Amino acid sequence: MKRYSILIFCVILFSTVNAQLKIGVARKSITPETPVWLSGYASRTQPSTEVLHDLWAKALVIEENVKSRIIIVTTDILGLSHDISEEVAQRVIKAHGIDRSQLLLNSSHTHSGPVIWPALSVIFEFNQADQQAAMKYNQKLTDAIVEAVDMAFAEMAPGQLSYCRGTAGFSVNRRESTEKGVVIGVNTGGPVDHTVPVLKATDMNGNPKAILFGYTCHNTTSRSYLINGDYSGFAQIEIEKMYPGAIAMYIAGCGADQNPNPRGTVELAAEHGKTLADAVRKALNGELRPVRPPIRTSYTVTDLQFPPIDPGIYRKEMTDPDIYIQRRARLIMEAYNKGWDMSVYKYPVQAVRFNNDFTILGMTGEVVIDYSIAAKKKYPGENMFVAGYCTEVQCYIPSKRILDEGGYEPESSMIYYGFPGPFAGNVEDRVMGAVTLVMKRTRVKH
Ligand SMILES: [Zn+2]
Repeated sequence: MKRYSILIFCVILFSTVNAQLKIGVARKSITPETPVWLSGYASRTQPSTEVLHDLWAKALVIEENVKSRIIIVTTDILGLSHDISEEVAQRVIKAHGIDRSQLLLNSSHTHSGPVIWPALSVIFEFNQADQQAAMKYNQKLTDAIVEAVDMAFAEMAPGQLSYCRGTAGFSVNRRESTEKGVVIGVNTGGPVDHTVPVLKATDMNGNPKAILFGYTCHNTTSRSYLINGDYSGFAQIEIEKMYPGAIAMYIAGCGADQNPNPRGTVELAAEHGKTLADAVRKALNGELRPVRPPIRTSYTVTDLQFPPIDPGIYRKEMTDPDIYIQRRARLIMEAYNKGWDMSVYKYPVQAVRFNNDFTILGMTGEVVIDYSIAAKKKYPGENMFVAGYCTEVQCYIPSKRILDEGGYEPESSMIYYGFPGPFAGNVEDRVMGAVTLVMKRTRVKH
């Protein structure tokens, strides 16, 4: 009899905890009209030729009560601009009464999606009409994200969350040491993370509504003129075929120094997508752990410093034979002459914590894997996924190690992003300080 009562008590406790959640999910197409200039590679010489598959903005709303919610948005694009992210946040805050920490925006970083102006504008020779077309797409994207969030709210219903984890082995560290320094290549001995975290959201009958999964790897398998989501686009399509009625959402990890291997064709992107989808299915067929409230969120902004601007250097670079160095110098001098402060980048960091069951650390920009490793090591009991490409994508975020080693991520990428980099030597301390703060603010005491 006693054992029977304990069992009933556990069942009631478990259902009460889980019944508190309401879940809504929706998606809206963000496929651009073709032809459109695609973003990510400086080597492209023409706009897109056709659409291979649709790109999506997808929104997942998880609500504990009206004050405790999280909205997770994923987008099949290179990265959101600062202005898009700000406008989306303001509109969603106004419409749904949340604070900024309750909205997590992520981009898949596909290199086969449209230009998101003005990111990487240094690699394009855009005339005014091209710029206007890009701004028009920015507005379409902004509206689509807000609409997806509204739709997800509208279809919210009681549901449950659970977590599992798989692995996929196609990412490789790309920072290869050579006599000429570190280049983008294949470094089989470098740090990688093959984990595939999976968060499943179901209705009260156990039917999957949303499958949120992640991976820590650049979305750079193919380099074609076909609009597509690269491996993560293919993976989402595969998962939606496996679980009819569910929306699959890809959240990018800190894969700034990780590449798919092998790479080069759309066929390989499809193959990696299938591998990732299979890893998700295998994990879902294994042991799932409940993910319970309370939901705690925190968002902070920290200053990352660049060296002070020396106008003499950039004036000289305005006549540099390298067109990209020239264009960056023009951008920086324009800002300098307007009196803008270019020495600080305001860097957002966010934590989303579900009890002690699952945590998403949301890092802004192109974040190298060292941060993911460091955060997981610092918070070993959190069951943590460290997402990169959150909020906005303005540049790479190197660790101290990578800053010291040099190469594309800490140094030359800054030219294409139009920043006066590399960052100052304390970049990692500043970022990890912000991580410590958001983790402290979201701590769940038992
Ligand atoms: Zn990148």
